[in-house]
Amino acid sequence: MIFKPEICAIPDKRMTPFINADEIWSHLCNTVRPETLLIRDIIAKSLAKERLTLKETAALINADTPELIAEIKQGARDLKRRVYGNRIVLFAPLYIGNECTNNCQYCGFRVSNKTAVRKTLSDDEIVNEIEALEDNGQKRLILVYGEHPKYGPEYIAHTVKIAYGVKKGNGEIRRVNINAAPLDIEGFRVVKDAKIGTYQVFQETYHPEAYNWYHLGGKKRNYDWRLTALDRAQEAGIDDVGIGALFGLYDWRFEVMGMVRHANHLEACYHVGPHTISFPRIQAAVMENIGTQYIVTDDDFARLIAILRLAVPYTGLILTARENPALRREVMEYGVSQIDGGTKLELGSYSQSLNEEQDLNREQFKINDSRSLNEIVDELVADHYLPSFCTACYRKGRTGEHFMEFSVPGFIKRFCTPNAILTFAEYLKDYAPEHTRQAGWENIEQNIKDMDNPTFVAELRNRIKRIHDGERDLYF
Ligand code: SAM
Ligand code: SF4
Repeated sequence: MIFKPEICAIPDKRMTPFINADEIWSHLCNTVRPETLLIRDIIAKSLAKERLTLKETAALINADTPELIAEIKQGARDLKRRVYGNRIVLFAPLYIGNECTNNCQYCGFRVSNKTAVRKTLSDDEIVNEIEALEDNGQKRLILVYGEHPKYGPEYIAHTVKIAYGVKKGNGEIRRVNINAAPLDIEGFRVVKDAKIGTYQVFQETYHPEAYNWYHLGGKKRNYDWRLTALDRAQEAGIDDVGIGALFGLYDWRFEVMGMVRHANHLEACYHVGPHTISFPRIQAAVMENIGTQYIVTDDDFARLIAILRLAVPYTGLILTARENPALRREVMEYGVSQIDGGTKLELGSYSQSLNEEQDLNREQFKINDSRSLNEIVDELVADHYLPSFCTACYRKGRTGEHFMEFSVPGFIKRFCTPNAILTFAEYLKDYAPEHTRQAGWENIEQNIKDMDNPTFVAELRNRIKRIHDGERDLYF
């Protein structure tokens, strides 16, 4: 039996807070020890491409026997393979400035951290960083900022325009996403006009009391302003938004439910769910002041990713270099669609090497995967994933592409796989060392063999030849 969609305690209204902690806890408390058949039905519903209700998500969270956990993980694996195929999209974060007026207890940039060297990259430094990123083969960036009057919407838009303008050799940045403080509607309009991709704001914790405890000062203290940030983005016409929770601040079960509730809210009010979901786990940071009570183990982390994959099947899942290479490799199969590669968080460190002390004082937290982009590409290819730098949908005006991938029959075959191949071919020609090229071209051939439309394969081969002959930026 499949649950009927629940009636939420708080009806969804635009720009109105939608989290009710009691409602979330009551779903979690009312679904303990779920029957095996119920869990199988819920997994089947997700594989039939239906989003899950809060109650169904709670049942998956409560399915904690080894057998049921294995079934949930297998369901997530199947969903990823069947629906999304083997592409993994690659990007890099670029920290623009670490000035911050907030006092988040978990973050190295918090205003009370007097040892942090505060820095905002100059325009020239931004150009240097982007040239270095382009030299590695990056095409997609996320720009990251502290919350400070210096980083208003005009400044963010200015830095986005710089990023799009830097062209070195065959290098260019084709999609600039943003992770910055919440703006008002007018501010979101300004950054939209700079042609940003996704605007990401993480709620950190969806639990209002826990939120108050961690956020001691500055604008970020206002839970509701942050919760409704992406509503304002939607009102301003940004329909490509990313949500997230910082795992380790409160019970992971509650945070998963909070994110599913957030996705439901955006769907109910704007008819479009989040473009991406992020699930960063807390990492060591200078002056960080959090306990260990809610630290998420590796096993629970793998589980929560599989549950999110099933609960919101149409949304991209982002896994970052906060996690170590072995764990990233394992959890990727549960439905991750985007990862960062060659990540450096210290301000200015893509273009210059910093010593250890400079590193420590300019970074927000420690990452656990410091491999180069090419090392990550090598591993993806060895594991039969198809690395992708594709930015086609966004540039063709096909926003909501995850939803199309998911719901339009043949969309992945017609657009996503060929575009992944074309962007990977560019990478192999322009940036890859010999050993990566060999394995990479074999990977491309294998992916072409799996295509069934001869006319389309001929057109794809024609474009690959044009890339060999020197053309760039070809896409469907
Ligand atoms: N300042 C903006 C804000 O807070 O929304 C945006 C940038 S903040 C640098 C990006 C994200 O980093 C935060 O939303 C938080 O989830 C994450 N973060 C902060 N401290 C962290 C830590 N110690 N470990 C892992 N992630 C952390
Ligand atoms: Fe500032 Fe963001 Fe760090 Fe909080 S998480 S201290 S807002 S940079």
